[in-house]
Parts: sequence; C-alpha cells; structure tokens
Amino acid sequence: MKIKPRKRLFIGLLLSLEIVFALGLFILWYIPSSGYENFGKSLSVFWGWAFGFIMVVFTLGILFLVAIILRGREVWGAKWLRGILVRYLLPVIMSVGKLLGIPKDDIRRSFIEINNDLVRSSSFKAPPKRILILLPHCVQRDICPYRITVSVNNCRQCGKCDFNELTKMADRLGIEMTVATGGSLARRVVVEKNPELIVGVACERDLTSGIVDTYPIPVIGVLIRRPEGPCINTRVNVDKVNDALETFMSEHSFASEKETGQTSVS
Ligand code: SF4
Repeated sequence: MKIKPRKRLFIGLLLSLEIVFALGLFILWYIPSSGYENFGKSLSVFWGWAFGFIMVVFTLGILFLVAIILRGREVWGAKWLRGILVRYLLPVIMSVGKLLGIPKDDIRRSFIEINNDLVRSSSFKAPPKRILILLPHCVQRDICPYRITVSVNNCRQCGKCDFNELTKMADRLGIEMTVATGGSLARRVVVEKNPELIVGVACERDLTSGIVDTYPIPVIGVLIRRPEGPCINTRVNVDKVNDALETFMSEHSFASEKETGQTSVS
C-alpha cells in the first residue's frame, strides 16, 4: 500500500522539521558541552541521552502516523496523535512550508487528508442527531432566489446545484445540515448544536481553521471544487459526504434505517 502524494507532503514537512529540530538539539548539546566538564563528564552524557530520547520519540511519532495512514483502520492512539498534530505541529509545519516556499493550500490539503485518516482510525460512532453537516453558502447557485442561509429547508431541490442531492441525503439519514456564511457563524452553530461529529465542506483555508477551532470535536473535511473560481457556484462531491456519514453513523442508526427501508446505505 502506498501513501497518496497529497499526504506525502505533510509527512515530508514533518521529517524536515525533525531534521531542523535534531540540528538544534545537537547544537544545544555540543556547544556548551565543554562547560559541562566543570560539573563532570556525566552531565554531558546525560544531556546527550536526553536529546537522543527526544529524537527517538519524534521519529516514532512520525512512523506511527505513517502506519495509521497505511493501515486505514482503527488504531489505538490515533485520537491522541490528532491532538498533537492539530494543536502543536500544524502551525510549525505551516511555518516550515512557508520557509520552503510551498503554497499554503497544498499543505492544508495534505493536513486535511491526514486529519481525516486520524479521525477514521479512532473507531468513532455517533447517532445521526449528533452529527452536523456544515456547508458554505457558495455551493448554492448564484441565481437561486431561495435563502438557504436562513434554513436549508428553503431549497426547492430544483437540481441546479449540489444542495439538491445534499438536502435529500440529509433528510434520508436524519442528519442536520447547516449553511454558514463565515467562520464566526460556523463556530456559533457548533457551540449551539454541540455535535459529536462534524462533516465540514469548505475550501482549504476554512476547513483547516474549522478543524483547529472545533478541536477536540472530530471533523471530517470534504473539499469543495471551484470550476468557476473561488466563492461562486462551487461543487461538492456528495458521495464523499455520504461515505463519511456511512463510516461514522452508529450501527444502531443503520439498523433502524434498513428496517424501515429509508436508506440505501449498507
Ligand atoms: S437546488 Fe436548491 S439551492 Fe440549489 S438552485 Fe435549486 S433551489 Fe436553489
């Protein structure tokens, strides 16, 4: 099994960070090591082992992340690793990428895919009522006269944009869907609804900040496509949203839906 090129970017940046970190630790150990002689050679040896230990932990962390991506299934500790990635490593990786001249959106795309793998690997299930689909306004056809920002139920399902399929899917599965016109509104919706899982649909920048802002709530990110440019008539891969819901809806929910014949999800 191979790691997709998009995910390799983030792993590569993590390795670059490790090399820089290792050099920094080496300098910290080596330069003052002559001064340690005043305290005895054992202090120099102690710091050597301590820095070596930090590097081993860092390397094992990267190997663990690669193993999760390759395995693609439940792995113990994935939740913990996602916390470190979202809280501490992402800002550093963004800075390393900037220094190397890598476009921000490339790094964000890589991060979103790795985040999705980590969420998928944490064996998480939630009832439909505790799952929230968050969508951007730009998915709506620009000429549509119905205000779905007030309520997605205002969509007449005319088929001119992907809200057509998305509203049908959300109705069928009994999952709440909300349109957010900006980051602060999205955060307010999340606080109000208090979901156990979010399926977020947005561009690279909004998805990345959404994943960070809503941590520790697990977020599966689905990127929009922009055939007509940013923020207008954007498209959603509805199958990807459906797959995410299929993965995380609890067994009980599936069973009851199958019994009533309400869904084709199996
Ligand atoms: S599918 Fe719904 S939101 Fe999209 S254009 Fe038609 S009525 Fe408007």
